[in-house]
Amino acid sequence: MNASSPEPRWYEPWARASGEARAQQCFADHFGEAAAGVWSAPGRVNLIGEHTDYNFGLALPTIIRHRTFVAASVRDDDDLVIVSSGGEDIVGPGKRWQGPMDDITPESTDGWPAYPAGLVWALRERGYDGPGLNLAFSSSIPIGAGLASSAALTCSTAMAVNALWRLALDSDERHIELAEAAMDAENLMAKTPTGGLDQYTSLFCREGSAIEIDFSTSPPTFRPTPLYFPDYGLALLVIVTPKRHRLTDGRYAQRYDECQQASKALGVQSLREVADDPHGLRRVEGLSEEVLKKRARHVVSEIERVRLVSEELAGTAPAHERFVDIGRQIYRSHTSLAVDFEVSCAELDLAVNAAWTSGALGARLVGGGFGGAAIALVRRTQMDATARLIDQSFMDAGMERPGFLVS
Ligand code: ADP
Ligand code: MG
Repeated sequence: MNASSPEPRWYEPWARASGEARAQQCFADHFGEAAAGVWSAPGRVNLIGEHTDYNFGLALPTIIRHRTFVAASVRDDDDLVIVSSGGEDIVGPGKRWQGPMDDITPESTDGWPAYPAGLVWALRERGYDGPGLNLAFSSSIPIGAGLASSAALTCSTAMAVNALWRLALDSDERHIELAEAAMDAENLMAKTPTGGLDQYTSLFCREGSAIEIDFSTSPPTFRPTPLYFPDYGLALLVIVTPKRHRLTDGRYAQRYDECQQASKALGVQSLREVADDPHGLRRVEGLSEEVLKKRARHVVSEIERVRLVSEELAGTAPAHERFVDIGRQIYRSHTSLAVDFEVSCAELDLAVNAAWTSGALGARLVGGGFGGAAIALVRRTQMDATARLIDQSFMDAGMERPGFLVS
């Protein structure tokens, strides 16, 4: 690195009041009045447990400080009007969408409006109803980076609709319904497959905590775990690679299918059953088809890694030992995702390798893969140096530069 290297680019989170003011401003610009209120929902990173949700497995995500804010009011008619101040990353018909709520169907809505419109549609399918709505979104979450900007969009909508339609879906138990509606919006309306990790995390995880989600029950079981990295001078550095992930190109769905096929070949309902068997990995090694063996090996070993990281977080061993162990599991998760699940790419591998070179305790891709973001568990005092080294590695490789944020 030479002295003239440019500064790494950081995505700054917005303070609550600032996010609310931005959403209100967006609302006032489009609707010429103040909104009745502002609601919000955060993005997430997953500490560990990738591609386990749809295999009835375990995951250990946490929320980030970046959120999506929605300023909203009810209308006098039955229309839904959605505007977003999102940048060029949003794909779809302009920044404003309007239509009667009765006309919203999975066939009728394309692009980004499908997420909020899908949420309203999913709640109405569940029998909830209310007047038309004006919704204006502002978000500090990088879009399409694997940090769940889409879930923040549907979950913030869910919070607003819950309040404005006076649905009172406020207890944890009833919040599940909002999360499920948000999943329907993505799966059925936006047609981007999701196993629920993002939506449950956005709605259920609290600041300063991770949340272990067990997808083997319906609804899933949540176990909040204090995430005390800051107390030990550690933080999660999020590296937003220049490669955006695309969930609609069929590769995520292909992994889902391969996991189903592996379950069938193993004679189980889900790969979780194999993960719960002490001889699970040996059973996986017995699979004759190489691709299915690799996919199953990732899922089964990843569920075990979630268990190990959860145990270490709750454990009583000396802190440095626990963090070294956690970091090791995080590196292993990346290797497993890259080699066995084959969802990494040059940018994600470069981010993880550069994090390793700079001494990060652990690093791995987060989200579905094929692009998007990676995380690195680093000492706070090393944060800047690590970001610089990773940034420089991208420049040396002739790649577009990444962005960074701290979780
Ligand atoms: P991720 O959820 O990891 O950011 P996705 O591909 O699942 O990536 O979702 C990104 C899509 O969500 C965008 O292409 C856009 O359609 C929609 N989206 C997310 N945030 C916003 C926003 N603030 N305004 C408009 N659309 C958004
Ligand atoms: Mg998403």
